[in-house]
Amino acid sequence: MEYRRTAIIKLDTPKNADPTLRETVEQFRHCANIASEWCWHGDDGFHVTSKAKAERALYESLKDETDLTANLVQKGIRRAVEAVKSGVERLKRGEKTSKPHFSADSVVYDKRSATFHRDHVSLSTVDGRIECDYILPDDPEKPPLKYVGDDDYEFRMGHLQRDGDDWYLHASMRKIEADDPEPDTEHRTVLGVDLGVNNIAVSSTGTFWSADEFNHWRREYEKRRGSLQQTGTRAAHEAIEGVGRKEYGRFEIYLHGVANELIEEAVEYGCSHIVFEDLTHIRENIPQATWQHVWAFRRLYQYVEYKAAEHCVEAVQVDPRNTSKRCSTCGFTHDDNRHRGTFACQKCGYENHADYNAAKNIGLQYLRRRQNAGDGGAPVDVRLNRGTVNVSGEYVPPASVEA
Ligand SMILES: [Zn+2]
Repeated sequence: MEYRRTAIIKLDTPKNADPTLRETVEQFRHCANIASEWCWHGDDGFHVTSKAKAERALYESLKDETDLTANLVQKGIRRAVEAVKSGVERLKRGEKTSKPHFSADSVVYDKRSATFHRDHVSLSTVDGRIECDYILPDDPEKPPLKYVGDDDYEFRMGHLQRDGDDWYLHASMRKIEADDPEPDTEHRTVLGVDLGVNNIAVSSTGTFWSADEFNHWRREYEKRRGSLQQTGTRAAHEAIEGVGRKEYGRFEIYLHGVANELIEEAVEYGCSHIVFEDLTHIRENIPQATWQHVWAFRRLYQYVEYKAAEHCVEAVQVDPRNTSKRCSTCGFTHDDNRHRGTFACQKCGYENHADYNAAKNIGLQYLRRRQNAGDGGAPVDVRLNRGTVNVSGEYVPPASVEA
């Protein structure tokens, strides 16, 4: 069982920190309001409710405009997207609504932009980190100390709020009871993910995340680095560092988008696991991968792993041996099955995109491993775009057509 509680903690802010905190709040609100404006009017006359899309369009300019960290800029954009989503829901129900506007003094922090301790918090601001002590009443039986003082409750995220001259941290806390029934006895469905250089990721549901954008940025990065390096001055060196940070930020935003979309798929299809190939020896499996690709794959996995947990989905890695040569339908494994981007089984004639076949195999690999481990023998399958493939590779059509 999972318990979620919000602990409202008054903060003892350092002397002279007030203007910095107010400026942080102001800039965060600016990001949210700009994003709200853009998402509400949208492109092509439709409201934008995709976080990834909003981030792609807005992150760069908001990062330049503000002194906020990349993480806070993202959080500001996301806050707006969530509000626009709710607005769109209201419109669908025929209720009156208008563009969300943010006026409260509030900033959203997660574990990357804040470090939550049991007696203080370190917050990212427009001017570095600020540490604030908690002002906690003595009674351990009452909130907030009931939660903050209990090691079984972990901090998930927090909102910094201003009320007059006082600052508060609204901390979301979570406690997981140890006697959780394992979901292993339930029917298990997993999402397989194939990583590569032409497509950064392909899921077993048949969604492709092209590497075009990624490769473009990578080339751009190398090019700009090259031309700056030739001038060879101290200023150029600093500029190179700047290019690095900027490009790095763009990569990260893109990967965040892919991670979010993978998780959305897993949640939508009721998957318990998102299965990746083992990243330890990824270079042997994908010889064409550059160091940036390897970095990107690991980063993507980290994001998925971190975010999936919030949705009770688990990210796992499996041995990828033969996943590109094996037929996901009949299991026949042969070098000749794969010709560049196409998979064509020499035995049963199954044909499909090679990366898609591999993604299915990666999901199956995990299920086989679990079955061999003999843990319950629960029915298992890999989620596909239509129907599922079970552990012996048989295709099971969807049980019913969704309305
Ligand atoms: Zn086959």
